[in-house]
Amino acid sequence: MQAQIKVKRFDPEQSDESFFQDYSVDVTDESTILDGLIKIREEQDGTLGLRCSCRASICGSCSMRVNGSAKLVCKTRIKEVAPNGEVISIEPMGNMPVIKDLVSDMDAFWSKVRSVDPYVKTDFKPEAEHIASNDSMTHLLGVMNCIMCGACVSECTALEVDSNFIGPAALAKAYRFVADPRDEDKNTRLSKLNGNDGVWDCTRCLACVEVCPKDVAPMERIVKMRELAIEEGYTNTSGFRHTDTFVESIRRHGRLDETRLALESTGLKNISGLIDLAIIGLKSLFRGKIPPVLPHRPKDFNKITSIVERLEDKRKD
Ligand code: SF4
Ligand code: SF4
Repeated sequence: MQAQIKVKRFDPEQSDESFFQDYSVDVTDESTILDGLIKIREEQDGTLGLRCSCRASICGSCSMRVNGSAKLVCKTRIKEVAPNGEVISIEPMGNMPVIKDLVSDMDAFWSKVRSVDPYVKTDFKPEAEHIASNDSMTHLLGVMNCIMCGACVSECTALEVDSNFIGPAALAKAYRFVADPRDEDKNTRLSKLNGNDGVWDCTRCLACVEVCPKDVAPMERIVKMRELAIEEGYTNTSGFRHTDTFVESIRRHGRLDETRLALESTGLKNISGLIDLAIIGLKSLFRGKIPPVLPHRPKDFNKITSIVERLEDKRKD
């Protein structure tokens, strides 16, 4: 069968502009997208740049966007994404600069992973093995499956607007050590991760969970680290205040009090944050988008507050 593949091309030595190039290539029912791309490079166009290595979804090298969403192309069959011969669009990963064609620059990705100190920190001086119980380690197996492919970072919506956010891959790696019973640096790690660009920057959009080829579920690890941080007393953060005010607002009014949420998340002592907020408030006012100062009660107020109470009771159990 013939696969129709359009590839986003970019060569900074030739032009600042990228463009799509169409290819048609002979493949079988079993061919992966990577097979198709390699065939194109070997038989039609030796200038096509792509990165790959193991071809067995182990090394994490061949992550790229397929029809707009990051995948490992060695794991994705052509038939799966184009069962009726549809055109397949291939682009480099998002949220990373492009070196050439489908090859992304992962320097920022690696420096963020390195910034979480990706190794067990302990003063334990081994005379024998440093044994942890099965129960304390098995829940980490999922997160240990990360192959550092970058697919989650490619699709992260928080990174799209703030490139300083540490991102889902580094945070999943951080969780692997925060939750490791042998690591003695949990508090320092949590303190750092609660700062700017850390766990509270995640918008919980789920994109990283959807695209991860190894079911690492980075967002779930991030949420868990937020909970651990709160348990350890890291509550003086805009993220915690946001969560706390959100719940309080629903309990009191049965709906979100956006004015109070913005003020309390920022912190009443944070003068520069409040000035920024005032500017946003003025802009919203001129566009007729300022929320009511006191939100009115919805007609299902009692129903909503009883849900909040039930959830809180459940959490205490
Ligand atoms: S968490 Fe998943 S998507 Fe992200 S780098 Fe690891 S394996 Fe890839
Ligand atoms: S859930 Fe959070 S970390 Fe994951 S992609 Fe969305 S914003 Fe990024």
